[in-house]
Amino acid sequence: MSILPLSVFRLHCQATTTGKIHTSNQTDLTLVKTVMPNPIVQTGHPVLRAEARELTRDEIKSAEIRELIEIMREVMRAAPGVGLAAPQIGESLRIAVIEDEAGEKTKMSEEELNLRERYPVPFHVLINPILTNIGDEKVDFFEGCLSVTGFAANVARYREVNVRALNEKGEEISIDAKGWYARILQHEIDHLNGILYIDRMYSTTFSTVENKARYWDALDRAKPSPE
Ligand SMILES: [Zn+2]
Repeated sequence: MSILPLSVFRLHCQATTTGKIHTSNQTDLTLVKTVMPNPIVQTGHPVLRAEARELTRDEIKSAEIRELIEIMREVMRAAPGVGLAAPQIGESLRIAVIEDEAGEKTKMSEEELNLRERYPVPFHVLINPILTNIGDEKVDFFEGCLSVTGFAANVARYREVNVRALNEKGEEISIDAKGWYARILQHEIDHLNGILYIDRMYSTTFSTVENKARYWDALDRAKPSPE
């Protein structure tokens, strides 16, 4: 797939800065945050159901892909989210970005963060990732998705996984992840295979965010620590 949305981003940025014509070809990333309408596509869009394609090492080093990664980082932070896959902004490419501050922004108590084994994960990029579960243990927690706005559901995910991938420089990386980070990796890599959490959820737990807070959070908290 071409990198069409990037030119759309540029056009939109130019159109919305009245009276100003951008002379540079560079997208003004601050505009993505301040002016752009939310560019994240929602469930029902076919790009979310396609198998995204791999990138070559030459493509990874291209200006277009570097720019795409910067846009993905800004869109993820603006959402805000802890991960974003390229198909979520209309690019059917095997790229995901991840960053989890796991701090005050989550509005979770220390106890809730610990229950989820949720610790800070610095920003990083995964290209052409291959995921393998470490052991068979799964843990159940509610999760949401920026492409299924307003809803959440309980989803069983492997507690520990390994991911081999390329980073934004085209270097091979291998990650052993546990807990919430392992969940984020599984969720984002599912996106690259056209899978959404709603395909894996316990369907009777599917809730609006409001009803999750009202009816499910107390149960979620009371649950014994997954072992
Ligand atoms: Zn998602």
